[in-house]
Amino acid sequence: MSASQSTAILSVYDKTGLLELAKGLHAKGVRLLGSGGTAKMVREAGLPIGDVSDITKAPEMLGGRVKTLHPAVHGGILAQTSKESDRADLQAQNIAPIDIVVCNLYPFEETIAREPAPTIAQSVEEVDIGGVTLLRAAAKNHERVWILSDPKDYPRFLEQFDQTGAEAQASRNLLAVKAFSQTAKYDEAISNYFRQQYASSAGASATGVVQQLPLRYGANPHQKPAQAFVTKGEMPVKALAGSPGYINLLDSLNAWALVKELAEATGLPAAASFKHVSPAGAAVAVPLSEVEAKAYFVDDLGQLSQLATAYARARGADRMSSFGDIIGLSHVCDAQTARIIGREVSDGVIAPGYEPEALEILSKKKGGKYCVLQMDPNYEPDLVETRQVYGVSLQQRRNDVKIEKSLFTNIVSDKKDVPESALLDLTVATLALKYTQSNSVCYALNGQVIGLGAGQQSRIHCTRLAGSKADNWWLRQHPRTLSLPFKKGAKRPEKSNVIDLFVEGTVEGDDMANTQERKEWEAMFDSVPPPLSVQERREHAAKLKNVVVASDAFFPFPDNVHRAARSGAGYIAAPGGSVMDDACIEAANGHGIVVARTNLRLFHH
Ligand code: 5GP
Repeated sequence: MSASQSTAILSVYDKTGLLELAKGLHAKGVRLLGSGGTAKMVREAGLPIGDVSDITKAPEMLGGRVKTLHPAVHGGILAQTSKESDRADLQAQNIAPIDIVVCNLYPFEETIAREPAPTIAQSVEEVDIGGVTLLRAAAKNHERVWILSDPKDYPRFLEQFDQTGAEAQASRNLLAVKAFSQTAKYDEAISNYFRQQYASSAGASATGVVQQLPLRYGANPHQKPAQAFVTKGEMPVKALAGSPGYINLLDSLNAWALVKELAEATGLPAAASFKHVSPAGAAVAVPLSEVEAKAYFVDDLGQLSQLATAYARARGADRMSSFGDIIGLSHVCDAQTARIIGREVSDGVIAPGYEPEALEILSKKKGGKYCVLQMDPNYEPDLVETRQVYGVSLQQRRNDVKIEKSLFTNIVSDKKDVPESALLDLTVATLALKYTQSNSVCYALNGQVIGLGAGQQSRIHCTRLAGSKADNWWLRQHPRTLSLPFKKGAKRPEKSNVIDLFVEGTVEGDDMANTQERKEWEAMFDSVPPPLSVQERREHAAKLKNVVVASDAFFPFPDNVHRAARSGAGYIAAPGGSVMDDACIEAANGHGIVVARTNLRLFHH
């Protein structure tokens, strides 16, 4: 071999394009060395190629487990030949530099996807060792070495290989990125497989650290398989009963984050009721009035624990939407809270722990299928979060901004006074938005969400939706709603639906007379109640005051402020930034509303 002759090591599982490449390299005078199968194929095509063992002076061994793992190979690849000490090392060991590495890996993913499933021993044999080492070593030394990990790159490489200069270097850089990505993806597939075998909460041999939670299915039942996992530490969520699905877990993790932050920010136990990855309600433990206890269907329980109070409020915000919720609790679930949950239609609960009696109650719910999830309260998520959409990875810093009372000190309205109770509600509303699908607007009072407009594309629609929910919440506390003469045996969800139609007034119109819907509604009562008159509604609405309204981004037009005012808004918190900021503040001044400019956008998706 002449001193200036380049050397290429070829070791490929996928032999696509191999012969054309070998031919091209040979034509350029490159010395070819191949591992067993690769060298055989090239040789049989009539091209001169040596064996890797020519330089290692060691045969392939252990049934192919060791083929290229040798200093003669990796010294040749990793040497920085511009350094005198490296050149001396190579000379001392009689190693020649290697300039080109052509390698792709054993098909691990294809093997484990085969039907019937391979044994663990079979899968183990598909874990490529030397190939990954070739890729990493050559990619590391990309300043000098070409690493070809994808047959698609062979033709362009052949055009560029004998060039020097920036263009060739830029190609080597990109080829290194490709090789590093290939080893990363490969290792991800391997660790994913073994995690499922050895570190899964459902794995037969599960011992020690659990990092994987199999999910029943993805967003829809046909989206199988589905799983949740972590790549370091332990899975922070444990299923004590039931088996969560993908959306259950999305709801649970968001609900947990919300209640944890609510409790930290307010010093009070907190609860949330999630549906479709937005809160239907969220609250902290502010004692209930008698009226609230009745409206929330908990007046039969006497004095509630703080956690039970928080959940009664969270569930009472929007009972219709909370049907089938995932519940987040900031503190260990006590028996009373479990009893309230036990009699509601719900899909699951996440809490840092359960008192034994509480766990017993919840584990029996839904015939044992109710999801009881335990969250590690000390778990801290990574600062950077990644997800994939349509095969593309998206990465961002997690929204770890703290929502504290100090966020509401920049008062830009004429009226300035913000009492402690409003500060609490501003915190609750703003934190709820942090975990609500955008756009979102939240109305809050008495330490709880009273109306939340989520996932609307226009801000005014959020403001209206949240406002109409707040109006309904308030009308559910009207004396005539509280004393609706339900027939005996009416179930809680049925009552919630009937109440909703009553406060909304839809079944009352003339066009509803004699309709099936009207008849079914009437059948729920001992005696059919007369509708709430316009006057009754007006008088009741006028009593709703000091409501907090928070927005996850600026109000683009003052119509939002006017709408908020109609539902008793006394305080608004929103970031500025709209050309209409001044007009919005002017509108708020007209209604006597205090405006806190937060300068904090809180989109969530
Ligand atoms: P061949 O078909 O040439 O016998 O094998 C090519 C495959 O072997 C490539 O996929 C390459 O990644 C892999 N390989 C190269 N060196 C080693 C080694 O030392 N150990 C193992 N297990 N695989 C290797």
